[in-house]
Order: sequence, then structure tokens, then C-alpha cells
Amino acid sequence: MTARTENTSFLSTIGLLLTYRCTIHCPHCFAEAGPGRKEKMALGSALGWIDEIAAYRNGCIRSVELTGGEPFFDLQTLALVSDHAMKAGLSITAATNAGWAGTLEQAILTLNELPGIRKISISTDVYHQQFIPDGHIHNAVIAAELLGRRYDITVTTESEQDEQYLKVMERLERIVDRRLIGTRITLPVGRALKAARSCKRKLSQEPSSRPCGSSVPLILPDGRLIACSGPMTAIHDPNPLSLGNLRRDSLSSILERAETNPLLHLIRVWGPHRMVSLLQSRGHGDLLPKEYLCGSSCDICSRLLCDKRLAEILNQILNEPENRNVIAYAQRQRLSNTETLHRYRVDGTGQIDATNALLQSDI
Ligand code: SF4
Repeated sequence: MTARTENTSFLSTIGLLLTYRCTIHCPHCFAEAGPGRKEKMALGSALGWIDEIAAYRNGCIRSVELTGGEPFFDLQTLALVSDHAMKAGLSITAATNAGWAGTLEQAILTLNELPGIRKISISTDVYHQQFIPDGHIHNAVIAAELLGRRYDITVTTESEQDEQYLKVMERLERIVDRRLIGTRITLPVGRALKAARSCKRKLSQEPSSRPCGSSVPLILPDGRLIACSGPMTAIHDPNPLSLGNLRRDSLSSILERAETNPLLHLIRVWGPHRMVSLLQSRGHGDLLPKEYLCGSSCDICSRLLCDKRLAEILNQILNEPENRNVIAYAQRQRLSNTETLHRYRVDGTGQIDATNALLQSDI
């Protein structure tokens, strides 16, 4: 379960996946979380990594997202971790399925025990609702409002035209402002590869041009830091979006290296669809998938970056000096980030060929 991001810049937020345990077992879960999973982040590691997050570049990271699995599965750990993050000056969002909100009293009691958590990001959809009905979502939302906490809701579906999805949305819109509800497309990753309603998926020959929706780096219990809190967290190494491991390197050295990671910044600047157009322009169109899930930028990442050959070709192309420079300039133009330009010591666009493939059809 991941929290929904609000256009956060790459290094303003970091996520911690506290546990793979979950109170329920949804068939579309890409993390394959469930009641039987045991892996969790050791408390000492979580507190130490939060200290590193808070200290990085004099506090440039302002918030943490606590995710799972279901972080509310172990309330005591959630309270200790969120209190520690609050004392370190970080703002905290926790992802949840709202299974703890069976009654309004229970919901208020639970949130009262977690004063550090300023926002809850609730996941609900056709699958979650087989275990956790609308009433829980309503109770969690009212409790959050009464206690002055913020909230949003994410609904996952195979298709935005699916009737059951539309019914879930209709019911949610009766209790929550529409602007607080986001939609995600179910990806054939993790458990969803076999179990979700694949017949409902809508495919297209054109990759989605939507931007990346969750470029919040996420720390996994084993210490890996992935440059994505979406489905790429479920990919084993070699994972092209893995930035390093906090058990081996400090957070600051990993993040300093990430400043000049061209794949990461290409996805941030243009969105994953630019990987497709770049590979086509370099004559690799025959290696690309024939179709993509409609409306899902994450589907492009998981199809291209899980293919070792495509990932290697992309890596080679993106590390060509001119492409690195183009991405650095685009970071300045689009994200107001001049850090990479400084590192490459480039100061004029004279080093860039205007016919560079990355700049074509740059709308
Ligand atoms: S899979 Fe790609 S598009 Fe989706 S959140 Fe991760 S980096 Fe962004």
C-alpha cells in the first residue's frame, strides 16, 4: 500500500515501507502483502534512517510517508516511528486500508494514539471492499476531520470505465470531496499478475503520456532505496530504479549519487513515455512492447525496465555525455533544479545539438 503523492518534488519526501504484513489479502496487491507475511523494518533501522532523512542537507527533506503492507497492523511500532519522525521535525503521512475504523469511536481512539501522523492516505476499491466496507472509510474520514488530520483516498482499478469501479467512486463521492480521490490503474505486477481481473484491462498501442505519479524514493525493510514508491518497488535486483542500500551506504551518499542518475531524471522530467520515444528514435522499436495499459505511466516502467536487454540499452543511451547534458538542462527548465548542471560543470546550451532525440516532440 502506498500513499498518494501531491506533485512532491523528488527530494522533499521519502517513504519507509514498515511492513509487508497486512490485515487483508487483496488479489491486486503488487507488494504481495498479507496476514502471512513476516518481513518488517527493524525498529532501530527505521529510527536511524529517519535521523538520516532529517539531517540530509540541513532539512531539505520535509516529510516521510509510512507505508506497507498495512502500517496500522502494528500500532505500537507505528506510534514509535511517527513520534520519532515528528520530533525530528518531519511531517508524516501514513498509508492505510482503514481496517481499524470499524466504528467512529475506534477510529478516533486510533488516530488519537498517533499524534505524529498529520495525514492518512486511504486505499479502497473493489478488492479492498471485499474485506473492508465503505463504513470504515467514512469513519476514518470523519475521525480525521474531527482531529484536524488531512486525508486522501486512492481507488485502484483495471479500467476507468469498469462499472464496479464507477459504483465505488459514486459511493465515495457522497462522503468525500471528489478532489481528494485519485485513481490508479492495476498493473500486472506481484499478485495482480495472476489474480486481478485481467479481462477488464484496456490496452493501447500508444504508451500513456501521463507523468510519473509517485516519484517518492522508498526505503524497503532490507535497506534498499528505490527511486519510486509504485510498482518498481516490487522488482528484485537488478532493479534499474534501485539507488543503493542503506545497510551499506549512508543516505546522503546515495542521494548525492542519485542527482546525476539520468534514468531517474528522464522519468521525472518527461514521464516514462519518453523512454519509448527515445528507444524508437534509436532504432530499437522492434524490441518494444506491442501494447500498453491505457492511462498508466507505471505500466511503461514495469514493461521496459523489467526487460534486462531494454534496461541495458537505455542505460547506455542515457549515459552518452550529450544526453546527460540535455537531461540536466531539462531539470533546470522544468523542475528549477540546477544541481546536476553544476555537477557536470556545463554552463551553456552550446554543448547541445538541437536535433537531440530527447528534445524532439517536447510538448
Ligand atoms: S513505476 Fe515509473 S511512473 Fe510509476 S511511480 Fe514508479 S517511476 Fe513513477
